[in-house]
Amino acid sequence: LHSLDRPDAATLAALHRERDEPPRVETARRERPLDRVVLVVLDGVGERALLPPVEAGAVGPVAAIVRVHTGLPSLSRPGYHVIFTGVPQDVSGLRTNFEGHARADSLADRVHERGGSVAFLQESVPWFGDFFASSGDLVAGGPWAGGRDVFDRAFASEAALIVVHLTGADAVGHAVGAAHPTYPAMVRRQLDIVKSHVEAVRPSPAAARTHWLIGADHGHVPRGGHGGPEPAVAEVAWVLLAAGADAGAHFVTPSERLPATAIAPWAAQLLGVPAPLEALSAAPRLGLPASTEPAPANETGGFHLIARQRAVADALEKGRTQAHRLVVVTTIAASLVLLILGSLWRPRRRLVALLPTAAAIALFLLAGPGVTFSGIRHERVFFQEAVSILALGAALVWPLAARWGASLRASILLSALPPMIAFVAVWGELGTAFLGPRATMLLPSSGLVPPGVLVGVLAAEGVRRVVTYLYQCAAAAAVRKPGAAEA
Ligand SMILES: [Zn+2]
Repeated sequence: LHSLDRPDAATLAALHRERDEPPRVETARRERPLDRVVLVVLDGVGERALLPPVEAGAVGPVAAIVRVHTGLPSLSRPGYHVIFTGVPQDVSGLRTNFEGHARADSLADRVHERGGSVAFLQESVPWFGDFFASSGDLVAGGPWAGGRDVFDRAFASEAALIVVHLTGADAVGHAVGAAHPTYPAMVRRQLDIVKSHVEAVRPSPAAARTHWLIGADHGHVPRGGHGGPEPAVAEVAWVLLAAGADAGAHFVTPSERLPATAIAPWAAQLLGVPAPLEALSAAPRLGLPASTEPAPANETGGFHLIARQRAVADALEKGRTQAHRLVVVTTIAASLVLLILGSLWRPRRRLVALLPTAAAIALFLLAGPGVTFSGIRHERVFFQEAVSILALGAALVWPLAARWGASLRASILLSALPPMIAFVAVWGELGTAFLGPRATMLLPSSGLVPPGVLVGVLAAEGVRRVVTYLYQCAAAAAVRKPGAAEA
C-alpha cells in the first residue's frame, strides 16, 4: 500500500517541465494588494451532507456553489494536496494517508511569493501544515484549533489565506457512519462554528476584502468510510458565501461537475494571485458581478494550461499502458509457473482443495466490507469483518470439500495462491501500476485470504470431527443397546 505514494516519474517530470512561469517581481508589485480567503475544509462532508443545511441557510446567503469530483483515491491527505495544488492524485502520486511531501507548486507558494502569509488551523491531523507551511505562517493544531480564539488570532495576524480544517464530521463518519443521526448533527455544529467566524469578523474593515470558501476533501458512505468512487464519497460541493467581499453577490455557477483541481485556481483568483504554477484546471467560470476587479492573469495568459494538460495526459497514458502491459505479462508468467509446479505436486483432488478459497473470496465479494477503499471504516473493523467473512465462506463449503476428498493441508496451503499471484502481478508496486479503485483495494486485501481460510477450515473441521465423534458414540450406543437387552 505504501507504494501507492510513489509517483510515475515521467508524469511528474512532464508536470514540472510544463509549469507556468512565475510572475516577475515588478509585475507583482504593480498588482493590487492581496484579498483574503478563508478556506474551510469540512473533512468527510460530501455534497449530499453539505448542501441541504447550506441551502436551508445554515451559514447565511450563498454566492456560488461549485460541485466537484474528488479524484481517486478519495482519501484525506491526497485530497488536501489536490485542493492546494490543483494537481490530481494520479499525477502527484500522492494516494494514501501514509507519507510523501508536497510535490507541486501550491496556493501557499503563490501567497508567500507576494509577501503574504498563510494560517493553518488544524483540529486533528497536521497534514495541511506538513505539506505547505513555511516559516512565518501560523500553524495551530489541536481540538480547539478550529474555534473562535484561534481563528480570531489568525484573522488578526493578517494571514492572506486561512485554512480552517474541521474534522469532527469525519471522526463521526468513521465511528458510526453517515446514516447515523449524529453525523448530520455534527455537520450542523461545524457550520455553526463557520457562521460564528463570519459574524465575528463582519465589523472589521478587513472583512470587505475577505472571501469565504467552504468545502470538503471527501464524503462518507452511509455505513462510514471513504477512499472509493461512490458518489456519497467522491462528490463534493464547494460553496462561496455571499459574505465579506462577496456580500450580496450571486454568481451564475457552472452546471457541470468539475474536478477538484479547480479549487486551487479558484482560491488563487479570489486572493488575487496567479493559480498554482502546475495546476491542471482553470478556476470555475462564474458570471462575475460588475464590482469585482479582474484577477491578474498568469503571465502566459493561462494558455499554457492546455499544453500542460496535454503533456501530463500523454505521460500518464504512456505510464499506464506500460504498467498494465507488465501486469498482464507477469500474471501470465506467474500462472504458467504455478501450473508447472502444480503438475509436479499432486495432492489428492487438487481442484476440490481450492473450494474453500474460492468460496471465501466469493462471500467476501458478495457480503464483505466492500471492494473499494470506502469499505475501510477503520483498519481494525475492516480486518475483523474481512477475516470473519472469508472464514465463514471457507467454513460453509468445507464439509462438502472434505466429503469430495479435499485434504486439510492442501486446502490451507492453496489459500496462499491469491496473494502470491496478486503480489507477482504488480511486482509489489501498486503505485505506477495504478489499476483503478477496485483492483487497488482487492489486490492487497488478498493477503487476508490465507488467515480467513485457515480459521474457517480449521473451525469447520473441528465441528465436523466433534459431530462425527458424537454420531459414532450414538451409533455405538445404539449397537450396544440390543446386546444389553439380551444380557
Ligand atoms: Zn477520514
